[in-house]
Amino acid sequence: MIQKTENYPHEPLPFIHHIIKQAVKSNATDIHWEPLYENNNFLLVVRFRVDGLLKDIVKLERREINLDSTVNALKIMCGMDTTKKRREQDGRTTFNVDGIELDLRFSCMPVVSGEKIVVRIIYKEQFCKKLEDLGITPDGMKLLVPLISKKEGFVLIVGPTGAGKSTTLYAILNHIYSRQKNICTIEDPVECMISGFNQIQVEYDYGMTFVSSLRAIMRQDPDIIALGEVRDAETTRTAFQAALSGSLIFSTLHARDCVNAIIRLLQMGVEPYFISAALTGVISVRLIRLLCRICKGEGCMHCANSGFKKRIGVFEIMKVTDKIKNLILEGASQEGLKKSAVEAGMLPFQDIAGKMVSLGLTSKEEADKLFTLDEIQ
Ligand SMILES: [Zn+2]
Repeated sequence: MIQKTENYPHEPLPFIHHIIKQAVKSNATDIHWEPLYENNNFLLVVRFRVDGLLKDIVKLERREINLDSTVNALKIMCGMDTTKKRREQDGRTTFNVDGIELDLRFSCMPVVSGEKIVVRIIYKEQFCKKLEDLGITPDGMKLLVPLISKKEGFVLIVGPTGAGKSTTLYAILNHIYSRQKNICTIEDPVECMISGFNQIQVEYDYGMTFVSSLRAIMRQDPDIIALGEVRDAETTRTAFQAALSGSLIFSTLHARDCVNAIIRLLQMGVEPYFISAALTGVISVRLIRLLCRICKGEGCMHCANSGFKKRIGVFEIMKVTDKIKNLILEGASQEGLKKSAVEAGMLPFQDIAGKMVSLGLTSKEEADKLFTLDEIQ
């Protein structure tokens, strides 16, 4: 499975730098450094996550690399305590590849065979993407732009982890950015510093939560507030109050699709009248792999034999109309909500994915996987 095609530097630090550079070249989002115990041997396996899937990169034995010093070097790099080996730790650092500065987030976890470290690579340009470049169709833009251009309201961006919620949120904020508006973000963590935005980092240790930060911002004459994530009823209610008192609020939520987002809010314990009054729109995002343009899915050198090259966003956009507001109050079914959302112009995921398959942009399996892999509830 793992082919060793090149020589890796024996010293820990040059080896680590080499791997990070390779990961960036392959557009990987995460690097997994996994200790492995196999045939009485301790090994180190490095895996990259590329286009959403993990891929083995190299498996090294003790004679090829000093495992302990590699783990220590990784931990020192991101400011972790090397003496603490039996507890989880977080760290971060910046790294430069060909003049591009990257943020690296480290997470270390003890496993039975040693310590496993995962490095998340944050590509800053991901936070400066244009709304037009995300993959939203012209019809989708016609629905979306009025929703995000209002002076008040509450727009939710939903999807599973790694589906592009943050990228979408930042692209929207960049799109509506103006020096005449006070734009504030409350994040945990602040993913990327952007000039012109007032970014607030949640600090639980100092009692600065999403809710307390939001209340403080409300006294700072805000126009637009982006809240990292609504995870509980209290945060959601506070955000809804802010939306009802004349600000435009954006937030993200872990949900399957637009209709499911409403169900999730209800399950969280948010009152139907609150949702009905404040929610103005839901944007649901997913990433789909595009067939390689050279081989059309057969597999070639250009796509590392995977048949796919690059991913693009697929967007479901729901405008919360008066009819939908009433349905929320009446406790309508998912089907009823979906039907009304479609009447209001929403193109459901299934339809968009089906269209992409018929245009030869992606495969049937890839389109199906978009929905069957969903374990969100
Ligand atoms: Zn190909």
